[in-house]
Amino acid sequence: MNRLEGNVALVTGGSRGIGAAVALRLAEEGADVVLTYESDAGAAARVVQRIEAAGRRALAVRADSARPEALTAAVDEAVARFGRLDVLVNNAGVFLVGPLDALGADDVERTLAVNVRAPFVASRAAVRHMGTGGRVISIGSNVAERAVFPGLALYAMSKTALVGMTKGLARELGPRGITVNLVVPGPTDTDSNPAGGPDAEVIAGFTAVGRYAEPAEIAATVAHLAGPEAAYITGATVPVDGGFTV
Ligand code: NDP
Repeated sequence: MNRLEGNVALVTGGSRGIGAAVALRLAEEGADVVLTYESDAGAAARVVQRIEAAGRRALAVRADSARPEALTAAVDEAVARFGRLDVLVNNAGVFLVGPLDALGADDVERTLAVNVRAPFVASRAAVRHMGTGGRVISIGSNVAERAVFPGLALYAMSKTALVGMTKGLARELGPRGITVNLVVPGPTDTDSNPAGGPDAEVIAGFTAVGRYAEPAEIAATVAHLAGPEAAYITGATVPVDGGFTV
């Protein structure tokens, strides 16, 4: 399907995991894609190659989401290279967990910078270029809704902030025809939460379906929200969590 034909999407943290699956899916739907990454240039280049092999244009930009100026520059580069910006996916996130005493001010600062400030800053930069049909989609977390283990407070706090941002921006940008939504994955098989990891069986057991998601299953919902058929969905928190929170 070419629902996103002619569109340009920017995916933060698009080099691996959920972000890479989103970048590939949006390209399959017809979009040209700019993806950011922090350090793994090789992984980013492989995603670019796969998108180009699918017949779409792609660009990888090294941009640490903790640095507002790097994010803004990535947005500007996307527009300079491909001429427009229709879809922003705020995906990059850090997962710093541990007991309260073990998490210092630096951990708090890093988590808030990447998981909270970055989506806000990127949204501000991106929507300047968007018209009717624009899409802002952020990636939240299931543990913001149900903190199943101790040690999740900082991460859950940061992801909960995206609920408020999503509602506030949806209200603000609705009159311009731009929708803003939050996709909330359940446990998803990526480098940061491998389905073969030591706690994976317990974690999968918290879901109703009894398994991890594939990144492509999260990407499918992001692609739907990015498309024209989702124009009446805004301000929503959309779980794709296998029943983790039921
Ligand atoms: P991965 O660790 O597999 O991939 C993270 C991606 O984000 C990589 O492309 C990485 O780039 C990039 N990235 C990390 N930090 C930064 C940064 N500071 N600036 C720019 N890019 C960055 O993560 P997941 O795919 O598992 O997670 C993606 C999102 O989904 C996150 O927001 C996470 O919180 C959320 N999530 C994940 C769940 C899971 O079970 N996996 C469950 C619920 C939510 P590089 O390759 O350069 O390091």
